[in-house]
Amino acid sequence: MRLQDKVAIITGAAGGIGLTAAEVFAREGAKVAMADFNVEQGEERARELRQQGYDVTFFQVNVADRQSVDEMVEKVLAAYGKIDILINNAGITRDAMLSKLSVEDFQAVLDVNLTGVFHCTQAVLPAMIANGSGRIINTSSVSGVYGNVGQTNYAATKAGVIGMTKTWAKELGRKGINVNAVAPGFIETGMTAKVPEKVMAQMLQMVPLARLGKPKDIANAYLFLASDESNYVNGTVLLVDGGIMM
Ligand code: NAD
Repeated sequence: MRLQDKVAIITGAAGGIGLTAAEVFAREGAKVAMADFNVEQGEERARELRQQGYDVTFFQVNVADRQSVDEMVEKVLAAYGKIDILINNAGITRDAMLSKLSVEDFQAVLDVNLTGVFHCTQAVLPAMIANGSGRIINTSSVSGVYGNVGQTNYAATKAGVIGMTKTWAKELGRKGINVNAVAPGFIETGMTAKVPEKVMAQMLQMVPLARLGKPKDIANAYLFLASDESNYVNGTVLLVDGGIMM
């Protein structure tokens, strides 16, 4: 097993990519802290995974709120004693064309997708430094690399995540902590279910593999970056997009 006895926090694990990642990590031997603000769904999914024999626990968190993040990290440390892996996966969209985008929706996406990643990473840092090792994996998007119509706020955060990833890879490498990002293309989750069918058809035209990605495609990339197989990978942005960005 590739993550035997590793403790992993996965944010946004109540659904979509994060939930699939929780299952993939648990199957590889990790003890998984499923962190999300959707308590009902998160508790239920964690219960289902435990019934399959996996070591997972749900922790309530709002990544945009520092106190909530600190409390979640404290509880994970109390339960598992260490943190080896942080997957900053929680994210939201509030799409609108620039002329119609409200300041509130601009800020809400920044609070979760950018400040949330900062909060979670800073909160786990002391535990990882004390351990002398750690893996931090951030979730960017093709939108952050090449922009996307109607996603001023989202693209800004996902580009910002790349900047933070590379900065932290430089700052934390000497402490034994690898920091990388995954940039998904268009993945079949609740997030893309909101996109109108016509827009989705146009988006599909851009994908050389001619299909949407599955949550597992991204979970497997997280797994690679969390496992010993990527020991010498640091500061990279792994595109998992079916070839959109070529
Ligand atoms: P999703 O909407 O299916 O799941 C996101 C999860 O994050 C939900 O469980 C939600 O409750 C949780 N969440 C939202 N705000 C939170 C907060 N403040 N605190 C804690 N939890 C919170 O989305 P997904 O498609 O699985 O996306 C996962 C990640 O992948 C996101 O960062 C997203 O931006 C990124 N991504 C997704 C796609 C795609 O096509 N689906 C493409 C590129 C990047």
